[in-house]
Amino acid sequence: MTSPTLVPILPTILFAIPFSIPYLLLLRIISQRTLTAQTLSRLTRSLVAIISVVPIGLALASDTAPNTFRWRMMVLWPWEEKDLIASAKTCVREVVENSTLVIPDDPRSMMIDRICQRLWNEGVTMENKRLIEREPKVLLIHDDDVLDGVSYPSSDITITTGWLRLVDFDEEMIAAIIAHEIAHILQSHAAEFYGMSYIAKVINQYKQIVRIGGSHSNNDNGDDSLDDGQTNLLRPRAFLQKHSQILEREADIVGQEIMARAGYDPGAAIELWQLMVDLEKFQQEQLSLPSQSSIPVGSSHGHGVRHSSEEDNDIIMHPPRRERVKYLTENLLTVQKLYEEAAAKGKSADNFEGDLNLQRIEMTLWGIFYDINGFS
Ligand SMILES: [Zn+2]
Repeated sequence: MTSPTLVPILPTILFAIPFSIPYLLLLRIISQRTLTAQTLSRLTRSLVAIISVVPIGLALASDTAPNTFRWRMMVLWPWEEKDLIASAKTCVREVVENSTLVIPDDPRSMMIDRICQRLWNEGVTMENKRLIEREPKVLLIHDDDVLDGVSYPSSDITITTGWLRLVDFDEEMIAAIIAHEIAHILQSHAAEFYGMSYIAKVINQYKQIVRIGGSHSNNDNGDDSLDDGQTNLLRPRAFLQKHSQILEREADIVGQEIMARAGYDPGAAIELWQLMVDLEKFQQEQLSLPSQSSIPVGSSHGHGVRHSSEEDNDIIMHPPRRERVKYLTENLLTVQKLYEEAAAKGKSADNFEGDLNLQRIEMTLWGIFYDINGFS
């Protein structure tokens, strides 16, 4: 993937301040006797002005997420978000060039398109539709061995055919996957995470400078984990991990609501994650590895939010699968009513069975010979 190149202005300014304050203070103390009273008071005023930029900056970055009203920091300015969308478009073009896409006439692509359109038309509210530039579009990548899904801020979603195989072409579970990706786009998670990653990166660099400059050595080598459950910005890696899990949970909840509104059984989202729990258990039995090692992890990169079984990343960016089953089940009470309303209006899952019969037989045969460890 292309590495992120966008440098957000707001955090850059905010983080330049801690460096300028000691400098100005020092200047103020040194020049106490040499400077005139007028210059000194000017120096004091600039010091106060610089310090006051911090709360102003934080106020500008303050935002509430749509749908969930979660308080968050959006450090990208609107034009920076546009740049991010442009980079995402380039990134999608690269993905298209470097992978084998399933052709649009293929029944699998047609099914994915119909599900995506229905989720958008029936499941996404008018208010939410206004949040993004255009209707989401799914690109189906031919790769049966890998579970990979990325939602890009440019409203593009890429998923591998491995997901279709995993859920045995179950339309409602596929709707759960796509609704989750649409939720990431509506909630601007990629832009939010990009900003937070940038802050985390800068803090990490500060920590390194302090470590080099300071004489004390603690055990902090930047390898902060979630061991003691404490996360704050001073432990950037653990903070990002926790933050990513919050975004995943939000996409799960908002996605389940989108499904229900579109007339897809919201229980299918629970079924999907239960399937993932079972797969994980199966892998552990097969591989006899400690529980964390075989979990396919995802990561978020500069241009999108990724869910992958292939990421070589030691940070767990997603909530544990059992936890997902638990909170999606709790949320079922809330979204069930939406689903019943949609069902009363005659919205229910389309039937793709006929179109996909051949693919299903082919997949089943292939599955018999396929080594399931490919999913690890
Ligand atoms: Zn996600």
